[in-house]
Amino acid sequence: MPYGFGYGFNMTYIVLVLPAVILAIFASARVKSTFKKYSQSRTASGITGAEAAERILRSNGLYNVRVEMVSGTLSDHYDPKENVISLSQAVYGNASTAAVGVAAHEAGHALQYAGDYGPIKLRGAIIPMTQIGSRAAIPLVIIGLLLSGFSAFFINFAYAGIICFALCVVFQLVTLPVEFNASRRAMQTINQYGILTADEQKEARRVLSAAAMTYVAALAVSLTQLLRLLLLVSGRRRN
Ligand SMILES: [Zn+2]
Repeated sequence: MPYGFGYGFNMTYIVLVLPAVILAIFASARVKSTFKKYSQSRTASGITGAEAAERILRSNGLYNVRVEMVSGTLSDHYDPKENVISLSQAVYGNASTAAVGVAAHEAGHALQYAGDYGPIKLRGAIIPMTQIGSRAAIPLVIIGLLLSGFSAFFINFAYAGIICFALCVVFQLVTLPVEFNASRRAMQTINQYGILTADEQKEARRVLSAAAMTYVAALAVSLTQLLRLLLLVSGRRRN
């Protein structure tokens, strides 16, 4: 085994990456359990996820966004190209605080596009680059490290791989304000138009906070992996 892949490499995994991975597993379990818990909590008005999304859109003057049902669990999303909010079965027709929270969040994304919110435009613009970057990153690092045994020049391939990986980290970084802002817009409209009572709003907010944590955790995993790659490649150059 080449030096870099041995003891030191595994130690950086345990010290750096593993805590972030554990955080990500915890965040994912928490969003599922929080959603499940408040899926049982019926809204006093009987408003469903789909109805809440429609009301938020209309309250903000958006009439051209469709709200549809999609299969899967927590598969809810907004598609800016089709201008469609897709809600999962557990959200679409469910009159719970969890369903309204999630649906309102997706409506928040539609509001961001309609309002030309900068971070979501930036996020959309860098998606193609990050898709290429995420595929090329690790192969480039491995090729660079292997060939650096023949000529020091090839270590540049590894650095190119790290830059590709860093692009994906930037994408996840830009995702954070987009996600937090969508929830903020959602909760603002819910409050302003009395779509949920004050107590119900607290429950919806808990679901959205739990969902936001998964994005923070994903960023932490990527950041620690980036650091680990940097340590690996810079260590190789010194040898
Ligand atoms: Zn979102």
